[in-house]
Amino acid sequence: MRSLWLLLALVLGTNARCQDLLTARAKAWLDTLTSPAFDGRGYVNDGDHRAAEWIAQQFQRFGLQPVKQDYFQPFQFNVNSFPDSVKVRIDGKILRPGIDFLVDPESGKAQGAYALVHIAPDDLHTPERRRMTMGVLAGKAACVHWPATKNADTLRVYRQWERDLMHQVPVIKAVPKLIWSVAQEALPFPLIEVAAEALADSSALVELQVVNKLLSRRPARNVLGMVKGKGSKWVMVGAHYDHLGRMGPDALFPGANDNASGTAMLLSLAEHFGKKGNKPRHNLLFVAFAGEEAGLLGSQWCATDRPIDWKELRMMINLDILGTGDDGIMVVNATAQPRAFDQLVAINGSKGYLKEVKARGPACNSDHCPFVQRGVPAIYIYTLGGVAHYHDVMDRAETLPLTEFADLHALLRDFIQAWK
Ligand SMILES: [Zn+2]
Repeated sequence: MRSLWLLLALVLGTNARCQDLLTARAKAWLDTLTSPAFDGRGYVNDGDHRAAEWIAQQFQRFGLQPVKQDYFQPFQFNVNSFPDSVKVRIDGKILRPGIDFLVDPESGKAQGAYALVHIAPDDLHTPERRRMTMGVLAGKAACVHWPATKNADTLRVYRQWERDLMHQVPVIKAVPKLIWSVAQEALPFPLIEVAAEALADSSALVELQVVNKLLSRRPARNVLGMVKGKGSKWVMVGAHYDHLGRMGPDALFPGANDNASGTAMLLSLAEHFGKKGNKPRHNLLFVAFAGEEAGLLGSQWCATDRPIDWKELRMMINLDILGTGDDGIMVVNATAQPRAFDQLVAINGSKGYLKEVKARGPACNSDHCPFVQRGVPAIYIYTLGGVAHYHDVMDRAETLPLTEFADLHALLRDFIQAWK
Protein backbone atom coordinates (compact mmCIF):
# COMPACT_ATOMS: atom_id res chain seq x y z
CA MET A 1 0.00 0.00 0.00
CA ARG A 2 2.79 2.37 0.95
CA SER A 3 4.53 1.79 -2.40
CA LEU A 4 1.26 2.55 -4.21
CA TRP A 5 1.04 5.92 -2.44
CA LEU A 6 4.65 6.54 -3.26
CA LEU A 7 4.01 5.77 -6.91
CA LEU A 8 0.94 8.03 -6.95
CA ALA A 9 2.89 10.86 -5.32
CA LEU A 10 5.65 10.36 -7.87
CA VAL A 11 3.23 10.44 -10.82
CA LEU A 12 1.38 13.50 -9.49
CA GLY A 13 4.67 15.18 -8.68
CA THR A 14 6.01 14.50 -12.17
CA ASN A 15 2.81 15.83 -13.72
CA ALA A 16 2.96 18.99 -11.61
CA ARG A 17 6.61 19.46 -12.56
CA CYS A 18 5.78 19.03 -16.28
CA GLN A 19 3.05 21.64 -15.92
CA ASP A 20 5.44 24.03 -14.16
CA LEU A 21 8.04 23.45 -16.86
CA LEU A 22 5.51 24.07 -19.64
CA THR A 23 4.33 27.33 -18.05
CA ALA A 24 7.92 28.43 -17.40
CA ARG A 25 8.78 27.91 -21.08
CA ALA A 26 5.65 29.83 -22.11
CA LYS A 27 6.69 32.64 -19.77
CA ALA A 28 10.12 32.79 -21.42
CA TRP A 29 8.52 32.97 -24.91
CA LEU A 30 6.16 35.65 -23.63
CA ASP A 31 9.11 37.68 -22.30
CA THR A 32 10.86 37.38 -25.67
CA LEU A 33 7.82 38.32 -27.76
CA THR A 34 6.99 41.33 -25.58
CA SER A 35 10.57 42.59 -25.18
CA PRO A 36 11.46 46.05 -26.59
CA ALA A 37 13.65 44.21 -29.14
CA PHE A 38 10.43 43.24 -31.00
CA ASP A 39 8.97 46.79 -30.77
CA GLY A 40 5.45 45.60 -29.95
CA ARG A 41 5.43 43.40 -33.08
CA GLY A 42 4.16 46.29 -35.19
CA TYR A 43 5.37 48.53 -37.97
CA VAL A 44 7.80 50.96 -36.34
CA ASN A 45 11.36 49.56 -36.62
CA ASP A 46 9.92 46.45 -38.38
CA GLY A 47 9.28 44.70 -35.06
CA ASP A 48 6.80 42.33 -36.73
CA HIS A 49 9.47 41.17 -39.21
CA ARG A 50 11.86 40.22 -36.41
CA ALA A 51 9.07 38.41 -34.55
CA ALA A 52 8.28 36.40 -37.71
CA GLU A 53 11.95 35.38 -38.07
CA TRP A 54 12.08 34.29 -34.44
CA ILE A 55 8.87 32.23 -34.70
CA ALA A 56 10.19 30.50 -37.85
CA GLN A 57 13.36 29.61 -35.93
CA GLN A 58 11.26 28.03 -33.16
CA PHE A 59 9.23 26.03 -35.74
CA GLN A 60 12.47 24.74 -37.21
CA ARG A 61 13.82 23.86 -33.77
CA PHE A 62 10.63 21.88 -33.01
CA GLY A 63 11.05 19.87 -36.22
CA LEU A 64 8.08 21.39 -38.08
CA GLN A 65 8.25 21.22 -41.87
CA PRO A 66 7.74 24.26 -44.10
CA VAL A 67 4.71 23.99 -46.42
CA LYS A 68 6.54 25.58 -49.37
CA GLN A 69 10.22 26.46 -49.75
CA ASP A 70 10.34 28.24 -46.39
CA TYR A 71 8.14 28.95 -43.35
CA PHE A 72 6.74 32.24 -44.69
CA GLN A 73 3.55 33.23 -46.48
CA PRO A 74 4.09 36.83 -47.63
CA PHE A 75 1.46 39.45 -48.42
CA GLN A 76 1.17 43.26 -48.33
CA PHE A 77 -1.05 45.98 -46.94
CA ASN A 78 -1.12 49.72 -46.26
CA VAL A 79 -0.57 50.77 -42.66
CA ASN A 80 -0.38 54.11 -40.89
CA SER A 81 2.53 54.41 -38.43
CA PHE A 82 4.05 56.86 -35.94
CA PRO A 83 7.82 56.34 -35.92
CA ASP A 84 8.76 59.75 -34.44
CA SER A 85 8.22 61.28 -31.00
CA VAL A 86 4.60 62.33 -30.59
CA LYS A 87 4.23 65.40 -28.38
CA VAL A 88 1.08 66.96 -26.97
CA ARG A 89 0.79 69.92 -24.56
CA ILE A 90 -2.49 71.36 -23.29
CA ASP A 91 -2.30 74.87 -21.77
CA GLY A 92 1.44 74.35 -21.34
CA LYS A 93 1.14 71.02 -19.52
CA ILE A 94 3.08 68.16 -21.16
CA LEU A 95 1.00 64.99 -21.62
CA ARG A 96 2.65 61.58 -21.40
CA PRO A 97 2.31 59.42 -24.57
CA GLY A 98 0.34 56.22 -23.95
CA ILE A 99 -0.63 57.29 -20.42
CA ASP A 100 -2.28 60.72 -20.84
CA PHE A 101 -2.98 60.56 -24.57
CA LEU A 102 -2.98 58.50 -27.76
CA VAL A 103 -3.18 59.60 -31.36
CA ASP A 104 -6.06 58.05 -33.25
CA PRO A 105 -4.59 55.39 -35.62
CA GLU A 106 -5.99 57.29 -38.66
CA SER A 107 -4.20 60.48 -37.61
CA GLY A 108 -2.34 62.70 -40.04
CA LYS A 109 0.14 65.48 -39.29
CA ALA A 110 0.06 68.64 -37.15
CA GLN A 111 2.95 70.72 -35.85
CA GLY A 112 2.38 73.94 -33.93
CA ALA A 113 0.15 75.71 -31.43
CA TYR A 114 -3.62 75.75 -31.98
CA ALA A 115 -6.36 77.61 -30.12
CA LEU A 116 -9.04 75.14 -28.98
CA VAL A 117 -12.62 75.62 -30.14
CA HIS A 118 -15.06 73.54 -28.09
CA ILE A 119 -17.65 71.77 -30.25
CA ALA A 120 -20.92 69.99 -29.37
CA PRO A 121 -23.33 68.06 -31.67
CA ASP A 122 -25.48 71.21 -32.09
CA ASP A 123 -22.54 72.88 -33.85
CA LEU A 124 -22.60 70.28 -36.63
CA HIS A 125 -26.26 69.22 -36.88
CA THR A 126 -27.47 71.45 -39.71
CA PRO A 127 -25.56 72.44 -42.88
CA GLU A 128 -25.72 76.14 -41.86
CA ARG A 129 -24.35 75.55 -38.35
CA ARG A 130 -21.73 73.29 -39.85
CA ARG A 131 -20.57 75.98 -42.27
CA MET A 132 -20.39 78.51 -39.45
CA THR A 133 -18.46 76.11 -37.22
CA MET A 134 -15.98 75.27 -39.96
CA GLY A 135 -15.45 79.01 -40.50
CA VAL A 136 -14.69 79.54 -36.81
CA LEU A 137 -12.34 76.52 -36.78
CA ALA A 138 -10.01 77.74 -39.56
CA GLY A 139 -6.41 77.63 -38.28
CA LYS A 140 -7.52 76.29 -34.86
CA ALA A 141 -8.17 72.87 -33.31
CA ALA A 142 -11.58 71.34 -32.50
CA CYS A 143 -12.18 69.98 -29.01
CA VAL A 144 -15.23 67.74 -29.41
CA HIS A 145 -17.72 67.06 -26.61
CA TRP A 146 -20.12 64.25 -27.43
CA PRO A 147 -22.81 63.24 -24.93
CA ALA A 148 -22.08 59.74 -23.52
CA THR A 149 -23.99 57.03 -25.38
CA LYS A 150 -23.84 53.32 -26.14
CA ASN A 151 -26.08 53.62 -29.18
CA ALA A 152 -24.10 52.22 -32.12
CA ASP A 153 -25.80 54.48 -34.70
CA THR A 154 -25.08 57.61 -32.67
CA LEU A 155 -21.47 56.50 -32.15
CA ARG A 156 -21.13 56.00 -35.91
CA VAL A 157 -22.38 59.56 -36.50
CA TYR A 158 -19.86 60.93 -33.97
CA ARG A 159 -17.08 58.99 -35.65
CA GLN A 160 -18.07 60.34 -39.05
CA TRP A 161 -18.06 63.91 -37.67
CA GLU A 162 -14.59 63.34 -36.21
CA ARG A 163 -13.32 62.11 -39.56
CA ASP A 164 -14.93 65.08 -41.34
CA LEU A 165 -13.18 67.42 -38.90
CA MET A 166 -9.86 65.55 -39.35
CA HIS A 167 -9.97 66.62 -43.01
CA GLN A 168 -9.88 70.28 -41.85
CA VAL A 169 -8.20 70.71 -38.45
CA PRO A 170 -6.57 68.82 -35.55
CA VAL A 171 -9.19 67.29 -33.23
CA ILE A 172 -8.98 66.72 -29.45
CA LYS A 173 -11.31 64.42 -27.53
CA ALA A 174 -11.50 63.26 -23.90
CA VAL A 175 -11.99 59.48 -23.55
CA PRO A 176 -12.76 57.30 -20.52
CA LYS A 177 -10.09 54.75 -21.50
CA LEU A 178 -7.05 54.95 -23.79
CA ILE A 179 -7.32 52.02 -26.24
CA TRP A 180 -5.11 51.97 -29.34
CA SER A 181 -5.38 50.09 -32.67
CA VAL A 182 -3.97 50.04 -36.22
CA ALA A 183 -5.36 51.79 -39.31
CA GLN A 184 -4.79 51.17 -43.01
CA GLU A 185 -5.26 54.79 -43.99
CA ALA A 186 -4.44 58.29 -42.78
CA LEU A 187 -6.54 61.47 -42.77
CA PRO A 188 -4.88 64.88 -43.23
CA PHE A 189 -4.98 65.97 -39.54
CA PRO A 190 -4.60 64.08 -36.25
CA LEU A 191 -7.21 63.21 -33.61
CA ILE A 192 -5.73 63.21 -30.12
CA GLU A 193 -7.54 61.07 -27.54
CA VAL A 194 -6.86 62.45 -24.09
CA ALA A 195 -7.48 60.95 -20.63
CA ALA A 196 -10.47 62.81 -19.16
CA GLU A 197 -8.49 64.41 -16.30
CA ALA A 198 -5.98 65.99 -18.73
CA LEU A 199 -8.64 68.09 -20.47
CA ALA A 200 -11.09 70.70 -19.11
CA ASP A 201 -13.99 72.70 -20.55
CA SER A 202 -11.73 75.72 -20.06
CA SER A 203 -8.72 74.24 -21.93
CA ALA A 204 -7.69 76.89 -24.45
CA LEU A 205 -4.48 75.92 -26.25
CA VAL A 206 -2.99 72.72 -27.62
CA GLU A 207 0.59 72.36 -28.87
CA LEU A 208 1.14 69.42 -31.19
CA GLN A 209 4.06 67.58 -32.70
CA VAL A 210 2.46 64.67 -34.58
CA VAL A 211 4.01 63.25 -37.74
CA ASN A 212 2.56 60.05 -39.17
CA LYS A 213 4.03 57.86 -41.87
CA LEU A 214 1.65 55.98 -44.13
CA LEU A 215 3.46 52.86 -45.32
CA SER A 216 1.97 51.73 -48.62
CA ARG A 217 2.00 48.09 -49.74
CA ARG A 218 4.20 47.20 -46.81
CA PRO A 219 5.25 43.53 -46.77
CA ALA A 220 4.14 41.24 -43.92
CA ARG A 221 4.39 37.49 -43.43
CA ASN A 222 2.35 34.71 -41.86
CA VAL A 223 4.59 31.97 -40.44
CA LEU A 224 3.53 28.40 -41.31
CA GLY A 225 4.86 25.08 -40.10
CA MET A 226 3.38 21.60 -40.45
CA VAL A 227 3.53 18.20 -38.82
CA LYS A 228 2.44 15.25 -40.94
CA GLY A 229 -0.13 12.93 -39.35
CA LYS A 230 -1.47 9.54 -40.34
CA GLY A 231 -4.07 10.43 -42.98
CA SER A 232 -5.02 13.13 -45.47
CA LYS A 233 -7.10 15.35 -43.17
CA TRP A 234 -5.83 18.63 -41.74
CA VAL A 235 -6.33 20.53 -38.50
CA MET A 236 -5.09 24.13 -38.37
CA VAL A 237 -3.99 25.87 -35.19
CA GLY A 238 -3.64 29.65 -35.57
CA ALA A 239 -2.66 32.62 -33.42
CA HIS A 240 -1.76 36.15 -34.50
CA TYR A 241 1.70 37.30 -33.46
CA ASP A 242 1.39 40.92 -34.58
CA HIS A 243 0.34 43.66 -32.18
CA LEU A 244 0.15 47.48 -32.30
CA GLY A 245 3.85 48.26 -32.23
CA ARG A 246 4.90 51.70 -31.03
CA MET A 247 3.51 55.20 -30.93
CA GLY A 248 6.88 56.92 -31.25
CA PRO A 249 9.91 55.90 -29.20
CA ASP A 250 8.12 56.60 -25.88
CA ALA A 251 4.98 54.44 -26.04
CA LEU A 252 5.47 50.70 -26.54
CA PHE A 253 2.50 48.33 -26.74
CA PRO A 254 3.94 44.95 -25.68
CA GLY A 255 0.72 42.98 -26.35
CA ALA A 256 1.39 40.27 -23.78
CA ASN A 257 -2.15 38.97 -23.47
CA ASP A 258 -2.98 40.09 -27.04
CA ASN A 259 -1.45 37.97 -28.41
CA ALA A 260 1.97 36.87 -27.18
CA SER A 261 -0.06 34.51 -24.94
CA GLY A 262 -1.81 32.84 -27.89
CA THR A 263 1.48 32.71 -29.82
CA ALA A 264 3.11 30.99 -26.82
CA MET A 265 0.28 28.43 -26.82
CA LEU A 266 0.75 27.89 -30.56
CA LEU A 267 4.47 27.29 -29.93
CA SER A 268 3.84 24.92 -27.03
CA LEU A 269 1.46 22.81 -29.13
CA ALA A 270 3.85 22.91 -32.10
CA GLU A 271 6.67 21.76 -29.83
CA HIS A 272 4.56 18.93 -28.43
CA PHE A 273 3.39 17.56 -31.77
CA GLY A 274 6.80 18.15 -33.36
CA LYS A 275 8.33 15.51 -31.06
CA LYS A 276 8.95 12.14 -32.72
CA GLY A 277 6.85 10.16 -30.23
CA ASN A 278 3.80 12.46 -30.49
CA LYS A 279 2.80 11.92 -34.14
CA PRO A 280 -0.70 13.42 -34.52
CA ARG A 281 -3.75 11.66 -35.95
CA HIS A 282 -4.28 14.38 -38.58
CA ASN A 283 -1.83 16.60 -40.44
CA LEU A 284 -1.37 19.74 -38.38
CA LEU A 285 -0.76 23.20 -39.80
CA PHE A 286 0.49 25.77 -37.29
CA VAL A 287 0.02 29.36 -38.45
CA ALA A 288 1.27 32.50 -36.72
CA PHE A 289 -0.76 35.23 -38.42
CA ALA A 290 0.45 38.75 -39.24
CA GLY A 291 -1.78 41.81 -39.69
CA GLU A 292 -4.59 40.82 -37.33
CA GLU A 293 -4.78 44.19 -35.60
CA ALA A 294 -4.96 45.96 -38.98
CA GLY A 295 -8.15 44.03 -39.83
CA LEU A 296 -7.61 40.21 -39.82
CA LEU A 297 -5.40 40.63 -42.90
CA GLY A 298 -3.05 37.66 -42.39
CA SER A 299 -5.86 35.18 -41.80
CA GLN A 300 -7.76 36.61 -44.77
CA TRP A 301 -4.73 36.06 -46.96
CA CYS A 302 -4.17 32.54 -45.61
CA ALA A 303 -7.83 31.65 -46.28
CA THR A 304 -7.50 33.07 -49.80
CA ASP A 305 -4.07 31.65 -50.69
CA ARG A 306 -4.94 28.19 -49.24
CA PRO A 307 -1.50 26.64 -48.70
CA ILE A 308 -2.86 23.12 -48.05
CA ASP A 309 -5.52 20.81 -49.54
CA TRP A 310 -8.49 22.94 -48.58
CA LYS A 311 -11.24 20.31 -48.78
CA GLU A 312 -9.32 18.22 -46.22
CA LEU A 313 -9.21 21.05 -43.66
CA ARG A 314 -11.52 19.73 -40.92
CA MET A 315 -10.99 22.23 -38.10
CA MET A 316 -9.39 25.62 -37.52
CA ILE A 317 -8.65 26.53 -33.89
CA ASN A 318 -7.86 30.20 -33.32
CA LEU A 319 -6.02 31.20 -30.13
CA ASP A 320 -6.17 34.88 -29.17
CA ILE A 321 -5.78 36.17 -25.57
CA LEU A 322 -4.91 33.17 -23.41
CA GLY A 323 -3.06 34.79 -20.51
CA THR A 324 -5.41 33.99 -17.61
CA GLY A 325 -8.17 31.36 -17.28
CA ASP A 326 -9.22 31.88 -13.64
CA ASP A 327 -12.83 31.63 -14.86
CA GLY A 328 -12.18 29.10 -17.64
CA ILE A 329 -12.39 29.72 -21.39
CA MET A 330 -14.84 31.07 -23.93
CA VAL A 331 -15.40 29.24 -27.21
CA VAL A 332 -16.53 31.65 -29.94
CA ASN A 333 -18.59 30.12 -32.79
CA ALA A 334 -19.47 27.23 -30.44
CA THR A 335 -23.15 27.39 -31.35
CA ALA A 336 -22.21 26.87 -35.03
CA GLN A 337 -19.78 24.02 -34.14
CA PRO A 338 -21.70 22.11 -31.45
CA ARG A 339 -19.78 18.85 -32.01
CA ALA A 340 -16.44 20.55 -31.35
CA PHE A 341 -17.82 22.40 -28.35
CA ASP A 342 -19.38 19.25 -26.85
CA GLN A 343 -16.09 17.43 -27.28
CA LEU A 344 -14.15 20.20 -25.52
CA VAL A 345 -16.67 20.13 -22.66
CA ALA A 346 -16.50 16.33 -22.44
CA ILE A 347 -12.67 16.22 -22.34
CA ASN A 348 -12.56 19.02 -19.82
CA GLY A 349 -15.20 17.28 -17.69
CA SER A 350 -13.40 13.96 -17.61
CA LYS A 351 -9.93 15.43 -17.01
CA GLY A 352 -10.92 18.39 -14.82
CA TYR A 353 -8.61 20.85 -16.57
CA LEU A 354 -10.51 24.16 -16.43
CA LYS A 355 -13.21 25.67 -14.25
CA GLU A 356 -15.58 26.16 -17.16
CA VAL A 357 -15.81 25.88 -20.96
CA LYS A 358 -18.35 28.48 -22.10
CA ALA A 359 -20.13 28.86 -25.45
CA ARG A 360 -20.63 31.98 -27.57
CA GLY A 361 -22.23 32.42 -30.97
CA PRO A 362 -20.43 33.47 -34.17
CA ALA A 363 -18.45 36.73 -34.00
CA CYS A 364 -16.06 38.20 -36.56
CA ASN A 365 -13.64 39.38 -33.88
CA SER A 366 -10.43 37.44 -34.63
CA ASP A 367 -8.59 35.25 -37.14
CA HIS A 368 -11.09 32.37 -37.24
CA CYS A 369 -13.54 34.69 -39.05
CA PRO A 370 -12.11 34.54 -42.61
CA PHE A 371 -12.18 30.73 -42.34
CA VAL A 372 -15.76 30.65 -41.03
CA GLN A 373 -16.76 32.92 -43.92
CA ARG A 374 -15.28 30.39 -46.37
CA GLY A 375 -17.06 27.40 -44.85
CA VAL A 376 -14.21 25.94 -42.77
CA PRO A 377 -15.29 24.56 -39.35
CA ALA A 378 -13.58 26.96 -36.96
CA ILE A 379 -13.63 27.96 -33.31
CA TYR A 380 -11.94 30.75 -31.41
CA ILE A 381 -10.80 30.32 -27.81
CA TYR A 382 -9.91 33.00 -25.25
CA THR A 383 -9.41 32.80 -21.48
CA LEU A 384 -11.77 34.34 -18.91
CA GLY A 385 -11.05 36.13 -15.62
CA GLY A 386 -7.95 37.77 -14.18
CA VAL A 387 -6.20 40.88 -15.51
CA ALA A 388 -7.92 42.72 -18.33
CA HIS A 389 -5.42 45.12 -19.91
CA TYR A 390 -6.34 45.47 -23.57
CA HIS A 391 -4.69 47.43 -26.39
CA ASP A 392 -2.90 49.66 -23.91
CA VAL A 393 0.70 50.13 -22.74
CA MET A 394 -0.09 48.12 -19.57
CA ASP A 395 -0.57 44.79 -21.39
CA ARG A 396 2.87 43.62 -20.21
CA ALA A 397 4.34 40.16 -19.65
CA GLU A 398 4.90 40.79 -15.92
CA THR A 399 1.17 41.43 -15.37
CA LEU A 400 0.15 38.17 -17.03
CA PRO A 401 -0.23 35.19 -14.67
CA LEU A 402 -0.67 32.38 -17.29
CA THR A 403 -2.89 30.85 -14.59
CA GLU A 404 -4.36 28.01 -16.65
CA PHE A 405 -1.79 27.83 -19.45
CA ALA A 406 -0.74 24.22 -18.78
CA ASP A 407 -4.32 23.00 -18.31
CA LEU A 408 -5.47 24.71 -21.51
CA HIS A 409 -2.46 23.28 -23.36
CA ALA A 410 -3.53 19.81 -22.21
CA LEU A 411 -7.16 20.38 -23.21
CA LEU A 412 -6.17 21.60 -26.70
CA ARG A 413 -3.66 18.76 -27.12
CA ASP A 414 -6.30 16.16 -26.22
CA PHE A 415 -8.93 17.84 -28.40
CA ILE A 416 -6.63 18.01 -31.45
CA GLN A 417 -5.76 14.35 -31.02
CA ALA A 418 -9.41 13.27 -30.52
CA TRP A 419 -10.97 15.32 -33.36
CA LYS A 420 -12.36 13.30 -36.29
ZN1 LIG B 1 -5.74 39.73 -30.61
